[in-house]
Amino acid sequence: MDWDAIVVGGGVAGLVAARSLASDGLRTLVLEARDEPGGAVRGHTVAGLRLDAGAESFATRGGAVKALADELSLPVVAPEPVGSWVHLASGDGPLPRTGLLGIPSQPWSARRTIGVLGALRASLDLVLPRSADPATLGALVRQRMGSRVLDRLVRPVVGGVHAADPDDLSVDAVAPGLAAARSRGSLARAVRSMRASAPAGAAALGIDGGMHLLVDALLADLRARGCEVRTGSTVSTVSPMSPATGAQPSDAGWRVLVTTGSDGPAPESAPRLVLATPGAPELLGLPTGDPDPGAEVTLVTLVLRAPALDHAPRGTGVLVAPEAADVVAKALTHGTAKWAWLAREAGRGTHVVRLSYGRAGAAVTELPDVALALRDASRLLGVPLHDDQLLGSATVRWTQALPRPSEAHRAVVAAVRSAVAELPGVAVCGAWVAGNGLASVVPDARAAARSLV
Ligand SMILES: Cc1cc2nc3c(=O)[nH]c(=O)nc-3n(C[C@H](O)[C@H](O)[C@H](O)COP(=O)(O)OP(=O)(O)OC[C@H]3O[C@@H](n4cnc5c(N)ncnc54)[C@H](O)[C@@H]3O)c2cc1C
Repeated sequence: MDWDAIVVGGGVAGLVAARSLASDGLRTLVLEARDEPGGAVRGHTVAGLRLDAGAESFATRGGAVKALADELSLPVVAPEPVGSWVHLASGDGPLPRTGLLGIPSQPWSARRTIGVLGALRASLDLVLPRSADPATLGALVRQRMGSRVLDRLVRPVVGGVHAADPDDLSVDAVAPGLAAARSRGSLARAVRSMRASAPAGAAALGIDGGMHLLVDALLADLRARGCEVRTGSTVSTVSPMSPATGAQPSDAGWRVLVTTGSDGPAPESAPRLVLATPGAPELLGLPTGDPDPGAEVTLVTLVLRAPALDHAPRGTGVLVAPEAADVVAKALTHGTAKWAWLAREAGRGTHVVRLSYGRAGAAVTELPDVALALRDASRLLGVPLHDDQLLGSATVRWTQALPRPSEAHRAVVAAVRSAVAELPGVAVCGAWVAGNGLASVVPDARAAARSLV
């Protein structure tokens, strides 16, 4: 065998799995199709600033990402406590600061955004008896708190985080633990108890210097453990190897065919194989169907000379309700208002704003470009912004990077997991099985690697 373990996919899931395998003394090879590892957590440089091209924070839920950052000696920081906003057809309003996916833990405190009638309806949640649990997050919020909480708070937040609609998502997929915390029925109380049992401080944290430093640190750590990370290397075929006649059963394993650059496919083999890509069912030839690819998301980052943004007019950013027709973006992050390290690096008067485009099921009416992003940013931040203020920009398109955790997707994942359990030496991991977000991906990748050791 060429290696003790092969990992296909060099996103955070693959890198974390490889780190676990290598720390058990296994000679591990990571194969990554792109020229740069990190997947949705890679970085890029815009107007001289090193920024996150994808993920820019992590949920503290479960503690696994913070623990990983600590192991890698990465300084963890909290976002600035300036809150965030929602942009509605009827105007702008603040989002509840202690909510979960927009579900307020104190319905009355959201009245500025959902109106007095909406807040009264939402408060009924505290007294309504528990009835049968609806299948989707959207139905649950509508049942307990009414349609204003759903339309004005939860739908914009879920659209921003998962590029999906709450009516398409099961509660467990996007809010693990919420159903269990709802022992007495109330959603607000469940959110409150989840927030209280979470580690002290913010529900999401970042890394001083950007989340992409997690990838840099993982790569350095893997190199130190003797693990090889080969980029520009696409795995096109995976096949089981039977032990040669007379050989030990331990010679059974897996062969992958790898295309690197313009070289034709070359084989690599190992007794252990981790597939950290949503292409795993196809690579393994499983009759399970494919995971949901999710919406295509395009991020447009603008670096602007705009002292009018120094006072962070919309806090850390704005989520956009789907029915707000004056803006095409679904979310805006004001990076320099959210992260003190970024404000420091950019310098006073210079701002980083990032607009996110693409909702599941929504037809793309306008391909986002810098002009559209400037117009949207101007409307969302309530500040005129012109192209002569632009110091730099970048447009990054993400496909297959935010699988939509629908019921159908979960059924495929369950079928894949049970089929893979029958394949000796194989494990799968990544957001497509674990759920979107590093808080789900990191512990799942560790578990996948452990299952092979
Ligand atoms: C725009 C965006 C913003 C996000 N923001 C956040 C956030 O703020 N906080 C958070 O917690 N999460 C966030 N997420 C989600 C989080 O980044 C992902 O859930 C997580 O990074 C997924 O990691 P992964 O390794 O499973 O997949 P990926 O990062 O997609 O990595 C998979 C890798 O496999 C490679 N690959 C695929 N096929 C092959 C093949 N055949 N051969 C070799 N290599 C292959 C791909 O090139 C890719 O690098 C965001 C996601 C996106 C897209």
